[in-house]
Amino acid sequence: MRARRRRRPAEDAPSVIVVGAGFAGLAAVRALDRVGAKVTLIDKNVYSTFQPLLYQVATGGLNPGDVAYPVRAFTSKRATRFRLGELAGIEAESQKITLTDGTVLSYDYLVLATGVSAAYYGITGAAEHILGLYTRRDAIALRDHIMARLERLDVAGPGHSLNITVAGGGATGVEVAGALAELRTALATAFPEVSEADVHIRLIEMAPVLLAPFHPSLQSYAYRQLGRRGVEVLLNTKIREVTENRVLLESGQNMPSDVTVWAAGVTAPGAVAGWGLPQGHGGRLLVGPGLRVKGQDRIFAAGDVALSEDQPLAQLAQPAIQMGRHAGKEIARAIAGRPAEAFRYHDKGIMATIGRRSAVVQLAHGPRFRGTIAWLAWLALHLVTLLGGRNRLSALLNLSYRYLMWGHAGGVIVGDDPPAAALAAPLLQQPGSPGAA
Ligand SMILES: Cc1cc2nc3c(=O)[nH]c(=O)nc-3n(C[C@H](O)[C@H](O)[C@H](O)COP(=O)(O)OP(=O)(O)OC[C@H]3O[C@@H](n4cnc5c(N)ncnc54)[C@H](O)[C@@H]3O)c2cc1C
Repeated sequence: MRARRRRRPAEDAPSVIVVGAGFAGLAAVRALDRVGAKVTLIDKNVYSTFQPLLYQVATGGLNPGDVAYPVRAFTSKRATRFRLGELAGIEAESQKITLTDGTVLSYDYLVLATGVSAAYYGITGAAEHILGLYTRRDAIALRDHIMARLERLDVAGPGHSLNITVAGGGATGVEVAGALAELRTALATAFPEVSEADVHIRLIEMAPVLLAPFHPSLQSYAYRQLGRRGVEVLLNTKIREVTENRVLLESGQNMPSDVTVWAAGVTAPGAVAGWGLPQGHGGRLLVGPGLRVKGQDRIFAAGDVALSEDQPLAQLAQPAIQMGRHAGKEIARAIAGRPAEAFRYHDKGIMATIGRRSAVVQLAHGPRFRGTIAWLAWLALHLVTLLGGRNRLSALLNLSYRYLMWGHAGGVIVGDDPPAAALAAPLLQQPGSPGAA
């Protein structure tokens, strides 16, 4: 069956460029569907990444393809052209953008929805030794790294340990730590020679609580649940330095860490500074009430990369979707000669999962859930919001397998050959074991 394509816009129709095919960029394109503009969607990847499930890829629960949706499958259903490319520069006066391959494109309206990347806040050694989790490549690298270290542990034998540190106790950090704890429960079939007790998972958070935006009862629930799953949680703890196999704290204490995962903060990528647009906290592009970049009439920003100082929003999927949709509608209004409208965020609530049958949900106006009900709500929402029926089906299958079969039927998704350096790196020898110093 052939997909129905919308009618092509007229040659002299206004041209709209949307940069970034994440939550915000796709929502902007959807909002422009019936406007009759020539819409071009640009992304440096040929797929749109569903970041909220990246940690499942990193811990062998999902295939990388489950969280990546081909952008052309999205644009081919509408009169939008997809162009693979990376935004390098913006000439606002002449309404042109330049891509890193030198291509120059003209626009009448431009939407910037390029997301963010890790912010290491000056931690020594972070860029070299910390593994991020912001892209599909990051998730694959982290998975291969963890698997390589488990292989190493398998070869090294009893008396050695693998130490994994997750930096950051927000939703991402809690989800990563919980998923690592679950991966540990699958060792009996995935790495039968490795003892669960030799894999240490530690979560470090500099605030006094986990999941800062949640109600205190949900914060302490998450803390207890991680503890029950064998994750050591250190609160009020700040990391000063990271080396290949250690994490050094502000307190002067240092601890072994063969794999250090970053989930502690984001910033606009350095390239954004070269676009000549006003930036606020965390390098985010400053936008006015209708999401136009400050001082610009034809450039909008939406999603994680945008910051409205009057209405600062968390860098989450819902704000990104709603901002992207609003930017698209603002452009439609401008093309139709209708007055601009201010963006208003409709808070639907927040959620985070800790692991099998354990999650926290906080709806916008009070109701709170935790445990199995919250976990089922988390599961359903993530499957519904994943793009593409095929991705939904494969994610449902893989997550069902993960949550129902792990521990007795194996099934951890393996990657490619582990990185040689990770395989060669020595593991900590436990005190008292034969050969230990
Ligand atoms: C591990 C993880 C877990 C998360 N979990 C949750 C969760 O459970 N719930 C939740 O609500 N939110 C979660 N988030 C946050 C949520 O994913 C983001 O808020 C959301 O993705 C932001 O959407 P966006 O469109 O602004 O940016 P992104 O989704 O990051 O999309 C940006 C797009 O721009 C492209 N791009 C970047 N730079 C360029 C360039 N120069 N040229 C061309 N293209 C470019 C990128 O390739 C990407 O496709 C999570 C984030 C991470 C990293």
